[in-house]
Amino acid sequence: MRRFVPHALLVLWAVFAAMAHAQDDREARRKLALEVPIADMHMHLHMMMTPDDLLARMDRNNVHWGGGVGPIAPGVSVDRFIQLLGKRYVPAGAQPELMAIYTRGGTTEMVDAQSASFQALQASVQQAFEEKKIQGVGELILNNRYSHPSPPFRRKVPIDAPTFKALFELADKHGGFVQIHMEDDGDSIDGLEALLKQHAKVPVVLSHCMARASARSARALLRKHANLYCELSARSSALLVAPFLHQYRIHDAERADSSWLALLEELPDRFMLGSDDTGFGASYDSIISTVRTGLLPHLSETTLKKVAYENAQRVFKLAP
Ligand SMILES: [Zn+2]
Repeated sequence: MRRFVPHALLVLWAVFAAMAHAQDDREARRKLALEVPIADMHMHLHMMMTPDDLLARMDRNNVHWGGGVGPIAPGVSVDRFIQLLGKRYVPAGAQPELMAIYTRGGTTEMVDAQSASFQALQASVQQAFEEKKIQGVGELILNNRYSHPSPPFRRKVPIDAPTFKALFELADKHGGFVQIHMEDDGDSIDGLEALLKQHAKVPVVLSHCMARASARSARALLRKHANLYCELSARSSALLVAPFLHQYRIHDAERADSSWLALLEELPDRFMLGSDDTGFGASYDSIISTVRTGLLPHLSETTLKKVAYENAQRVFKLAP
């Protein structure tokens, strides 16, 4: 008995010490999640903001870099944004032109590489690559059939259609990236895999990690292709507001789905953040704050930094 009491006290002390340590660790990660610089790799330009607005919201939210996708529609003068943001902006081509093609000619024109509209798009993307005005192409919205709330905006085309093959070739030739919005239907995945294998050096970013995909589906694809990445915009409660979209949330402002947290820890080099602010829905501030309180604090310190900015820094060659 005399020997048992000190032993029990020792065990109790060790338990308390471990609990206090875990508490300290949680607190440190919560603090880091609020302060860490962020690379927003799904940052659109749109008509409802000026370059000054964008710079102010990036600074206010400690977002050091942004871009990776283009303006959501034609009519935005990208040059004015680049002048102000400089190397903090990662310009991408083809998005507004492809939007115009879809609006005018539907999915038929989107896949027609011989159309005058695509020939013009191809020429302008090539020139922009040559003049170093873009670093890649995207967001190519190729399959959002079930993941977009507005029916006229929904479409599905083969990912390896001749037009997108041509854009991959341009990206490959110029050391550029491709960012694609697609859902994880079997035929879309087959088309993507054909392009990934053919262009193994092109970093391919899946917008919203395939929008409706489960962690399991994302894991299977990421494990097969080393040049494939996921960005996590529009997967939180900030933008997935409509009830039928709740099932695709990865996190809200407090909690994150455990299957996704496990995947991020398992493949920590393959994920990035994004906002996907289009001027509709939640504010930029609330989108970023939901990531800082609902996703990042639940990651290990190493993974947290990789997802917040280190992966984007490596893949997009961001200036320090
Ligand atoms: Zn987008």
